[in-house]
Amino acid sequence: MEYCRCGKSGLKLPALSLGLWHNFSDKDIFANCQQIIWKAFDAGITHFDLANNYGPPPGSAEKNFGLLLKNDLKAYRDELIISTKAGYDMWPGPYGNWGSRKYLLSSLDQSLQRMKLEYVDIFYSHRPDPETPLEETMGALDHAVRSGKALYAGISNYPAEKTAQAAKILKELGTPCLIHQPKYSMFERWVEGGLLDVLEETGMGCIAFSPLAQGLLTNKYLGGIPVGSRAEKSHGALNANQITPERLKQIEALNQLAADRGQSLAQMAIAWLLKDSRVTSVLIGASSVNQLDDNLLALKKIQFNYDELEKIELIIKS
Ligand code: NDP
Repeated sequence: MEYCRCGKSGLKLPALSLGLWHNFSDKDIFANCQQIIWKAFDAGITHFDLANNYGPPPGSAEKNFGLLLKNDLKAYRDELIISTKAGYDMWPGPYGNWGSRKYLLSSLDQSLQRMKLEYVDIFYSHRPDPETPLEETMGALDHAVRSGKALYAGISNYPAEKTAQAAKILKELGTPCLIHQPKYSMFERWVEGGLLDVLEETGMGCIAFSPLAQGLLTNKYLGGIPVGSRAEKSHGALNANQITPERLKQIEALNQLAADRGQSLAQMAIAWLLKDSRVTSVLIGASSVNQLDDNLLALKKIQFNYDELEKIELIIKS
């Protein structure tokens, strides 16, 4: 595993990190979750990403991860980077959502309790809140760090301009923003319109989520929608109607290009993100050890020649 410095901080993150948004809920098989986490850690994936609402039901991924930690990884706490977030709907009433100090700090306490942890390594504001003053949300992240319940602060899904403002506020408070977690893949390029530049200027790291576009950037949907896949599950976040004939044509072409490079499409999609030095880590999901094995091999070949990059652009724009 390669470990990359997160922005201008002292922290290094693995080139591949594992997210528990899907596949670690009460609806999933615990033994499979355990195998995935073991495999990941053995392969050098030291960073596991959670959020208060991951499930279903919300909170169950943190609860299950807490059990895995207690059973298997407790002795390795200092070798792990564990993150959580608050920002989406979590409990009823006006204090269980968005970006108030009340919500963020109560949610962090609940997350620690579910995971049976004394602290998380990174605590994120999961999304910008258009109504709460940014100073209040950033003040809550600063407080979380000062209270010792989080080691670093992060933000997710913030547009470029708001990211620059958040970075300024946190710097003034003395808790520099460690990292931004945006959606970024060959199929989702919004970060290239200014955010990556802001992250470089402010010294923040970048961890790209849904790098495989939830499975679209693999070969799994080329022969139809497999049973048990995210697009097939009732609680999956990938809608089957996103798998259009046009999309499938692009996926076919990318799959062929990956084969020409001697890689699977999943591996090429991960490598494509890692070619940019501003991307600290690629945050994958996996529903099996086999998928994780496949994805780990991406690190064997992350270089692209000009011709390959041009071909990718042509396919994506077709
Ligand atoms: P991916 O784009 O990596 O999608 C993961 C899914 O792709 C897997 O569940 C699996 O689908 C499929 N897959 C993975 N590897 C392979 C493979 N080699 N071959 C075939 N299929 C494969 O990431 P996610 O969308 O899961 O997001 C990753 C993490 O990012 C989350 O767990 C979370 O931590 C974070 N995230 C953050 C958000 C935020 O707002 N900050 C929002 C969303 C995610 P299947 O289950 O069908 O087998």
